[in-house]
Amino acid sequence: MTIKTANLGFPRIGRHRELKFALESYWSGKSDRGVLLETAARLRAGAWLEQKARGIGVIPSNDFSLYDHVLDTAVMVGAIPPVYGWRAGAVDLDVYFAMARGSNGGHAACGHAHQGDGVPALEMTKWFDTNYHYLVPEFEKEQSFELTKNTPLEAFLEARALGVETRPVLLGPVTFLKLGKSRDGSSSLRLLERLLPVYARILAELSNAGAQWVQIDEPCLVLDLTGEERQALVRTYAAFATLIPDLRIMLASYFGALGDNLDTALALPVAGLHVDLVRAPEQAGDVIARVAPGQTLSLGLIDGRNIWRSNLAKVKETIAAAVAGRARDTLQIAPSCSLLHVPVDVALETALDDELKSWLSFAVQKLDELALLSAALEDDEGAGLPALEANAVAAQARLTSVRVHDPIVAGRLAEFEGKVPARASTFRHRQDAQRRRFDLPLFPTTTIGSFPQTAEVRKARSMHDRGELSYIDYKAFLERETVAVVRWQEEIGLDVLVHGEFERNDMVQYFGEQLSGFAFTRHAWVQSYGSRYVRPPIIYGDVARPNPMTIGWWDYAQSLTQRPMKGMLTGPVTILNWSFVRDDLPRETVCRQIALAIRDEVLDLERAGAAIIQIDEAALREGLPLRRRDWQHYLDWAVEAFRLCSTGVADETQIHTHMCYSEFNDIMPAIAAMDADVISIETSRSKMELLQAFAVQRYPNEIGPGVYDIHSPRVPGVDEMKTLLDLARERLLDDQLWVNPDCGLKTRTWEDVKPALIHMVEAARKLRQEVPSGKPRPVQA
Ligand code: GLN
Ligand code: ZN
Repeated sequence: MTIKTANLGFPRIGRHRELKFALESYWSGKSDRGVLLETAARLRAGAWLEQKARGIGVIPSNDFSLYDHVLDTAVMVGAIPPVYGWRAGAVDLDVYFAMARGSNGGHAACGHAHQGDGVPALEMTKWFDTNYHYLVPEFEKEQSFELTKNTPLEAFLEARALGVETRPVLLGPVTFLKLGKSRDGSSSLRLLERLLPVYARILAELSNAGAQWVQIDEPCLVLDLTGEERQALVRTYAAFATLIPDLRIMLASYFGALGDNLDTALALPVAGLHVDLVRAPEQAGDVIARVAPGQTLSLGLIDGRNIWRSNLAKVKETIAAAVAGRARDTLQIAPSCSLLHVPVDVALETALDDELKSWLSFAVQKLDELALLSAALEDDEGAGLPALEANAVAAQARLTSVRVHDPIVAGRLAEFEGKVPARASTFRHRQDAQRRRFDLPLFPTTTIGSFPQTAEVRKARSMHDRGELSYIDYKAFLERETVAVVRWQEEIGLDVLVHGEFERNDMVQYFGEQLSGFAFTRHAWVQSYGSRYVRPPIIYGDVARPNPMTIGWWDYAQSLTQRPMKGMLTGPVTILNWSFVRDDLPRETVCRQIALAIRDEVLDLERAGAAIIQIDEAALREGLPLRRRDWQHYLDWAVEAFRLCSTGVADETQIHTHMCYSEFNDIMPAIAAMDADVISIETSRSKMELLQAFAVQRYPNEIGPGVYDIHSPRVPGVDEMKTLLDLARERLLDDQLWVNPDCGLKTRTWEDVKPALIHMVEAARKLRQEVPSGKPRPVQA
């Protein structure tokens, strides 16, 4: 008997990003909602039929979303904050999109996420440790829930009309509440009893319509849970078992091990349990041994988070015990999680070489792998076996390819093995040396690096990419932009300048394209949020830097001015966290390789004369593991990687870093251990409150708390920024404080940026007039 193959979710965006184009066309008013909904229906139908054609046994429905599945869940149960103007009943599409993107008064469909006037969007944050972002549900103090529309039922019936029996997917009520936030700060779990009847009705209607199974996702099962949260799971699934006894629930966990939640999960009265054996292979033995014989065990075996072809022979071995010890009709094989996080089809990558392509597996290839694995499990001698051998050969080829292994990289890593990279002198000493070198005023002003990437800049780049603009002309264009931005920064009186980053398409891609071991795709898009998709670089081999990557542009920009020009780099942890990373080495090793490549660039910049070098670690915090006890290990190697790339320089070379957030409370020792001379962070929206961590934990080095919120087109005034600086002075020492925006300016227009930076420089001047020499730094013990 065959072991059933099951899928947990299929990419929504379409092979050719149809969803993005349909959404943007609708938002800009170029097409009506009929066209949008038709496109959506076509994408759903395509996905179902494709999965069916590829022989998948259990096909999901309700995994589609126009924007985000957490938002869909909130809308489905009527968790819609009053500002969006919904009262009861069906929820209009414009309300849905206002929650997703904000609305500008009467022009909800005008194409931009406006802030300031109109209604702001819900907050957005990362979905577990992926690069997918969901909208954070918001609950009122007396939140009530009602079923606005049974979307899982609609999807189920829609698929059935196409001849496809599906297993509808729902986000579980406990995870849903846990991901949301209550306005009054209380635990949203207290709303569970109000929410359950709505879920029960959805499930009952599904059951009445003939659904045999549903998939309920409770990825919170891989997090550190409180006793209250575990109890909430117990109450929820006990209620469903009583209220809808005929409907079988496949309870899905993914992104990690059940760990100390295993007992809770095993005790829930559900018909099936899905576990992630890619991220947490170590739980296989325990889970297989302990899941009740009558329960269906869904084994997540194909990596839903990465793009490598699996070695199915190996996978087969790891589940041999399960297969031998259980009735086959109580087993399913599946991807580890929804395929939302991988691109659609390798076949679209016509520009990648065949060898590299043979190593890759995107969503549809992963489904084929499942089907193949199922066939091989069925008959060990028959048809399945040759195919399995071919797969093993292909998977093995990557591990041994000369393209993957660079002995020089291995040698260099070994050289640094066991050493703790550190600057030659303490910060205090370096600070003196740097003060002697730079003639900077108190409260020095700077920016984070990029200046507006105008339509002109983007057009020149894409013309150059398409071969319509020669390199000479493109370079001349970029030089003109750079000259203009350097002149302008001098004119308004910024102290430390940047070159503007006009030559960069993206802060990771720009470097990846120049490093060996990286590959870039043309069509391998994955959803980041809403209609924003990204094409993460693929790190397939040892990373090295064959040639300098930024020296030319830095040198050109510095030649235009006497003021210090920052060298501008992306840090190793951020490059790692925003890429698909090879799975044959520990992530920390790959990170060290990137760090060494960046170190080469840092030293070349220094040699070329750069006195200040900024290494952005925008994504350091988002790489934190899901479980608290794994944090320290991650922070240790992340900090070490930063130090590896940044500590080779002389005392008088100033290292800056930038981070796009400001929740530092729980990682402050790691931030301090990075030992950057200056760190810039995002704080303007929180009114500097988030600086508290730096004050309380006495962060010793210099800090630039952002005083200009670059996420909004609003131009802050001089006094507003001055007030923020006054607040910062309550928490930091004067000689610690830099003045800068929250982040890079690439998404802004010159119309916002010009007045805002003029105001910023003016605010710093005002402050200097009030405190000509600052509060002296207290003598340190
Ligand atoms: N230097 C980059 C810029 O200014 C930093 C961006 C970021 O950290 N997200 O655009
Ligand atoms: Zn930033």
